[in-house]
Amino acid sequence: MLNLIIFGAPGSGKGTQSDLLKEKYGLCHISTGDVLRAKIKSRTELGLKAESFISKGQLIPDSLMIDILAKVMSDQTDVQGFILDGFPRTLPQAEALKVVLEEKKMELSAVIALEVEEGELMQRLVKRGEVSGRADDNEEVIKSRLKVYHNQTFPLIDYYKQEGKYHGVKGEGSVQEIFGRITAEIDAL
Ligand code: AMP
Repeated sequence: MLNLIIFGAPGSGKGTQSDLLKEKYGLCHISTGDVLRAKIKSRTELGLKAESFISKGQLIPDSLMIDILAKVMSDQTDVQGFILDGFPRTLPQAEALKVVLEEKKMELSAVIALEVEEGELMQRLVKRGEVSGRADDNEEVIKSRLKVYHNQTFPLIDYYKQEGKYHGVKGEGSVQEIFGRITAEIDAL
């Protein structure tokens, strides 16, 4: 079983690369951002709560997010592995994931981290906002998302380095070039 985390700042290309990885390795792709956006669309109570955080570029509280992730993972049976995109984003989430995987007798194979310069991230996100229709892809909210990434998510890099799971990949260049770097890391596991 191949269980991956695709890690990186907003705009680093996690979603794009996940789509390719899912195809190549037959993985179940779980994007917590997509899960939340679907809940917002269906106007569930949880969706409305999530929307108030997402629209400000803030993170959904850990306890809520961990429950959602555990449920989504449990709903998937008979898969060859997972690719988690957008989770974990905090240390408590990383610890919770460890427990969820242990309970399922599964192991994390690798954290693939897309490394992209800050200026490039901002440019990509503003450009994406012109076509994505995502309410949080506007300059003000993007700034707050990048700040949240630095303060709350960045510490996970050291956490996963200590766990021996961290694989940094240069996230700049063409989609295929980056994909080639990622698959080289995975195939060497
Ligand atoms: P994304 O599509 O991954 O950029 O996520 C969009 C937004 O959803 C984020 O800015 C957060 O508000 C929320 N979100 C997604 N994943 C998480 C998570 N693991 N923890 C907390 N909030 C999250």
